[in-house]
Amino acid sequence: MEQRFSTFAEAREHARSVAKAEGVIACIQRGGEGYVVSTASSHKIPSTAPDPFLETSGPAIEFEDEVVRETVGEIIISLRQDLLTVIDEKKLMSTLKLGLHKIDTELKGLHSNITDELQEQVSELRRAYKGIETFIFILEDVENIRSADEASEYSSELWNILEYFSGAEIEKRFKKEIRELAEKEKALPVEKKVKQTAEINHKIAILNSSAPDCRKCGSSMVLREGNGDYFWGCSTFPKCFSRKRLKKEEREMLGV
Ligand SMILES: [Zn+2]
Repeated sequence: MEQRFSTFAEAREHARSVAKAEGVIACIQRGGEGYVVSTASSHKIPSTAPDPFLETSGPAIEFEDEVVRETVGEIIISLRQDLLTVIDEKKLMSTLKLGLHKIDTELKGLHSNITDELQEQVSELRRAYKGIETFIFILEDVENIRSADEASEYSSELWNILEYFSGAEIEKRFKKEIRELAEKEKALPVEKKVKQTAEINHKIAILNSSAPDCRKCGSSMVLREGNGDYFWGCSTFPKCFSRKRLKKEEREMLGV
């Protein structure tokens, strides 16, 4: 009887439960994308054999670890390939997510410590995954940028993660986004100015809520700006040209 599994850990779990339940040796082999567990009733576990399920060291364990490392190595190679060729950020993110999840599952079955080299390769992929996540976040938020400061912040964030995608197709998209952010940075006001404008608009709204009435036509007046100064003007302008100077406290409120 044969059964397929995508990870070695799953295959091993199955092989063990079959062996335990039926007292037969289950054989794990690589097949296609995953592993095939095959059992034959003729492969009875000899009654004299030590309990194979209690084994925590020895050649069987070393073999299992070797398979795990080999499998993780193959997933890493395939993810690196995807990293270089996939241009759609969402597709790349889900591919990396799935691959990293597979790696985590495989590594859980490892009895010995993961090697530094393998660890570094996995960390590299994790950083790339985080980088793609950031890229997607920025792409979605870029329309909401209102100041040069925000544009510059996003562009330096992209610069920082650009190194994980050196030579990759998606690197072009990063660079395009950085160029567009640089243009935004030039076109948008700096944050201080944005804040000042927001503050002054708020004050104008307050003053307008208790605007005086026009002494000529009785309509309400509105705060208007001209030549860098503020004044009350009739809201029916150009029908009525009436104007009124701001009071001292009104000037103070606007800071003019
Ligand atoms: Zn008027």
